[in-house]
Amino acid sequence: MLIPCLACESRFGPDEYFSACSDYNRGLDLVSWTCPTCGNRDDLRVLPGELGFGYPHRGRFDVHDRLRVPGLRRHRGDLRLDISLDHASWHVPTRVRQHV
Ligand SMILES: [Zn+2]
Repeated sequence: MLIPCLACESRFGPDEYFSACSDYNRGLDLVSWTCPTCGNRDDLRVLPGELGFGYPHRGRFDVHDRLRVPGLRRHRGDLRLDISLDHASWHVPTRVRQHV
């Protein structure tokens, strides 16, 4: 399946899409995504079977839009998020902040 950029509507295969994820925020449970085509930055939450898009608000992340991605799985680690789909997997590291 192809996953669209919500800004420019380019569509990406899973490998290209999840390779563009960076900086897993464990507290808010979201990853940053930068569109390889238009450079738009989105925050999204990887959920079992779907992606959740939304906005950080008052210390939490509210999901407003969901995109179904059948077979999508995730595993939360201490300093990274592991994403898997079919037989592929991606690791999104947490950017270590000096001041927490
Ligand atoms: Zn885009």
